[in-house]
Amino acid sequence: MKAVRFFGHKDVRVVNDIEKPVPKGDEVLLKIGGAGVCHSDLHIIDEGTVVGTVFTLGHENAGWIEEIGENVEGYKKGDAVLVYGPWGCGHCKPCQQSKENYCDHQSEQAYGGGLGLDGGMSEYMLVPSSRLLVPIFDLDPVIAAPLTDAALTPYSAIKRSLPKLMADEYVVVIGVGGLGHVALQILREISGAEIIACDVTEDKLAFAKELGAAYAINSKDADVAEQIQKITGIKKAKVVLDFVGSTSTIDLGTKVVSLDGDLTIVGLGGGHYQYSMNGLPFGVSMTNPYWGSRTELMEVVGLARQKKIHIEIEKHKLDDANEVYERMRQGKIKGRAVLIP
Ligand code: NAD
Ligand code: ZN
Ligand code: ZN
Repeated sequence: MKAVRFFGHKDVRVVNDIEKPVPKGDEVLLKIGGAGVCHSDLHIIDEGTVVGTVFTLGHENAGWIEEIGENVEGYKKGDAVLVYGPWGCGHCKPCQQSKENYCDHQSEQAYGGGLGLDGGMSEYMLVPSSRLLVPIFDLDPVIAAPLTDAALTPYSAIKRSLPKLMADEYVVVIGVGGLGHVALQILREISGAEIIACDVTEDKLAFAKELGAAYAINSKDADVAEQIQKITGIKKAKVVLDFVGSTSTIDLGTKVVSLDGDLTIVGLGGGHYQYSMNGLPFGVSMTNPYWGSRTELMEVVGLARQKKIHIEIEKHKLDDANEVYERMRQGKIKGRAVLIP
């Protein structure tokens, strides 16, 4: 079968000679409907965040059950499902609480399909346990795939700050890409706070306004922090969600976050931050969340089924993977690109 494989630093190839796996025990074989293209893939491909192993890319996956192992119950051929992406041990306390994104054993094992193990940019994908599937009912797997990351990750980040996102507060969203454009919609639907969005191109700023941002500011402007403070006044922004994570965006976050606020760095842009007593308002919680839990993914499916969030999608073939990654490097994708086998 055809698959988009990672061979090492800047070496991604579409191959045709991968054998279709056969599920055993609790394993499930999925026929892939769509595999989302996440910026984290570029950190793997260009910066070597996963090394020493050849695997099929794609960690945002959805499809239909093709075949189940002999121990799988509750699923049948043709059921439409998402693949929960961070694969934990399944046994430790965080895994039992459905938070496999914080599995005790994360440092010992590969993170999941498309992140060191074979992922979903392929005709079929082997999922190690039916525990990792979330049913999507009437949603189309071709377009639902990004719910597993581009929606789940901002949802989980927002949910932890929800008590601070009241209608008299401001929230700053930095980066209106795959994750950021869904973050704006989740904020619009489940929080009361007024949204200030930042990106670096005019089309992304216009897109942010369509999705619920009251203000959209170009973070290339030298006075971006002053522009934000002019909107928020002396109280500043109660929550900052940084979907870039570069040194400049983290620095911006520290300047606009309020006393007792949350500075949440989701982007893995390799930025640095040096703590200094006067550099951060008192009471700020700085956090770097990773993905979300399985039950939060079920809640995200609920938001999508109620049409409260909509993922803007570009559809491409597996053969076009390298061109799509190149467009993502240049910041040219609106919403999310999805590869469709
Ligand atoms: P994306 O490429 O779709 O979007 C990035 C957006 O940021 C683009 O719109 C781009 O124009 C904008 N941008 C770039 N530099 C900027 C700046 N200085 N100021 C404002 N905007 C800027 O990427 P994505 O798939 O949404 O991923 C975003 C980041 O989140 C990546 O670093 C990715 O690796 C990371 N990520 C983290 C997790 C997690 O669990 N922590 C999960 C998924 C993705
Ligand atoms: Zn991702
Ligand atoms: Zn675990």
